[in-house]
Amino acid sequence: MKTRVNTKNGDNLSILGFGCMRFPTKGGSIDEPRAAAMIHEAIAKGVNYFDTAYIYHGGKSEAFLGGALSGGYREKVKIATKLPPFMVNKLENAKKIFATQLSRLQTDYIDYYLLHMLTDKPMFDRLFSLGVLKWLEELKEEGIIKNLGFSFHGSKSDFERIVKAYPWDFCQIQYNYMDENNQATKSGLQLAAGLGIPVIIMEPLRGGKLVNNLPEEVIKAFQNYDADRSPAEWALRWVWNHPEVNVLLSGMSNEEQVADNIRIAGYAEADSLNKEELDIFEKVKQVMREKTKIPCTACGYCMPCPAGVDIPGCFSCYNDKYLLKDKSMRWKYMQTLGAMSVKPANASRCKSCGKCETHCPQKIAIRSQLKTVSKEMEGVLYKPVVGIVRKLMKIK
Ligand code: SF4
Ligand code: SF4
Repeated sequence: MKTRVNTKNGDNLSILGFGCMRFPTKGGSIDEPRAAAMIHEAIAKGVNYFDTAYIYHGGKSEAFLGGALSGGYREKVKIATKLPPFMVNKLENAKKIFATQLSRLQTDYIDYYLLHMLTDKPMFDRLFSLGVLKWLEELKEEGIIKNLGFSFHGSKSDFERIVKAYPWDFCQIQYNYMDENNQATKSGLQLAAGLGIPVIIMEPLRGGKLVNNLPEEVIKAFQNYDADRSPAEWALRWVWNHPEVNVLLSGMSNEEQVADNIRIAGYAEADSLNKEELDIFEKVKQVMREKTKIPCTACGYCMPCPAGVDIPGCFSCYNDKYLLKDKSMRWKYMQTLGAMSVKPANASRCKSCGKCETHCPQKIAIRSQLKTVSKEMEGVLYKPVVGIVRKLMKIK
């Protein structure tokens, strides 16, 4: 496992961090034996950074991670977790959440603590005026928090404002070859690094979109150069090619992903991609840009929807229809989002309340996009066909 030193505090961090928002699930809950085995295997192979949050897996990720790290693992790793600003209206809320996090994680200190998903400077200002930053500084002085940072999903200009507004110990941004000029952007990455702020990268595979169901042209472009290198490896190595990156978080969901990511992290170096390889990314980006209709990363922050819409699921089917030119996608949409479900979750169930849009880090106009999805994926025959299928399958 390659490591990179956090120049601010000397921590030797594995370049691969374990993102704890996409553990394998069974019956809707974390498949604990499998996920724990994946965590232990990652630690055995040198992964020493685990990133969770108060809200991941519907609030179950932290407690699960705490349990998985008990029995001597905790001391071998750094735990990162996050305070959800949208649940903090007064300082007392934050204190209560933090106490719950320590208890869930079975620890008395947090190595890397983040304000979760800052999207603009006023959000930071609000937390500051509530006294949250001052209180977190006190926790740092007491050694209960070791490093204080923020995760970010917003515009380049807001990133610049936030990163300069406070003496952060680290920050976390979304970055992958499709997002070089999106959100914090490459210049934001360079700005943070220039200020001496270590950078953690999330969404290196854009929620799996840079791996699964890629257009044929993209797969060919990669394979023509190296038939053995997977799309995941191309995407991860693109991120690690940046010397400004400290840790890349991968939300690993199965044993193969753990093994593959660890393998790649065993040799990925900064500035190791040559010009020909970098040119291939430019071609690939062009193809992907032309074909991805809605830039949803499947992060799930917009969920749950009170009307039961599976927002990322709807967008995924719609995007795949264009990315893959897959004519069966309407059938898949019907199967997964309506006909076969006890609780249908298709786009036309949206009541336009707008609750989801305030949480979307990609700033997607979810209501209007769901209307488009509903128009294209459902059409006039959707309801009668779903009704028949449900009747045949005796789904109430
Ligand atoms: S706007 Fe629609 S999709 Fe979003 S939360 Fe409201 S009902 Fe759900
Ligand atoms: S719509 Fe936005 S918040 Fe919801 S899953 Fe997609 S990117 Fe995440």
